[in-house]
Amino acid sequence: MRLIVLGPPGAGKGTQAQRLVVNHGLVQLSTGDMLRAAVAAQTPVGIEAKAIMETGKLVPDSVVTGIISDRLDDDDIKGGFILDGFPRTLKQADALERLLAEKAMPLDGVIILEVDDDALVERVAGRFTCASCGTGYHDTFKPTKTDGVCDVCGSAEFKRRADDNAETMRTRLQAYYKDTAPLVGYYYAKGKLKSVDGMAGIDAVGAEIDALLADMKG
Ligand code: ADP
Ligand code: AMP
Repeated sequence: MRLIVLGPPGAGKGTQAQRLVVNHGLVQLSTGDMLRAAVAAQTPVGIEAKAIMETGKLVPDSVVTGIISDRLDDDDIKGGFILDGFPRTLKQADALERLLAEKAMPLDGVIILEVDDDALVERVAGRFTCASCGTGYHDTFKPTKTDGVCDVCGSAEFKRRADDNAETMRTRLQAYYKDTAPLVGYYYAKGKLKSVDGMAGIDAVGAEIDALLADMKG
């Protein structure tokens, strides 16, 4: 399966992508994670992206499209992938379309997670991840089972994102509604769009996505 998960910042894209990795053996392709890794490694892309990401604006289309183009050549994605946080503009969507056509890897579907703005702010404010394995958590909605210990790998180190603050979140939401929301119509017109109620709990959203995947597989 080759899927895109669309939705505003904090909608649950990464959470559901991690579920699909575990339950369906797909590979998660998150441009946000790739860019954060580039920032940490201080690569030329990371140095360019750092200041932009800190303000909540979008990194140039050419940069993220280049990253995804390279990643789509890797062997591990041949069994299926889920794009999380890409594409985010109509230009990126057109570039992806060309890349997937060249590589003869058609998309199976695009899932849009619908979540109210107030809930997004609350989700982002409480988000943290395991510094060792990257598993995502939330202070209220998905706490670790044992306080201070990652459920998956047992690490006691966690991190919070520099851009998960109220001010940056406003810019990120503006970027979403201006640049990314038009993708909903773009994929609807192609007959690829599946809408999911992202306001439900994590497991209920996951169950709705599983039902959609079962439908797509026919
Ligand atoms: P995105 O990748 O879309 O930015 P995340 O998957 O990182 O969003 O989710 C943002 C935060 O909200 C995380 O802390 C996550 O644990 C939590 N979360 C995700 N889905 C839900 C949900 N359905 N209900 C409540 N909290 C959620
Ligand atoms: P995310 O982890 O998806 O919330 O992305 C974090 C930040 O990385 C965004 O606010 C952007 O600055 C940048 N970013 C991630 N993916 C993209 C993309 N596809 N296009 C442009 N910028 C991106």
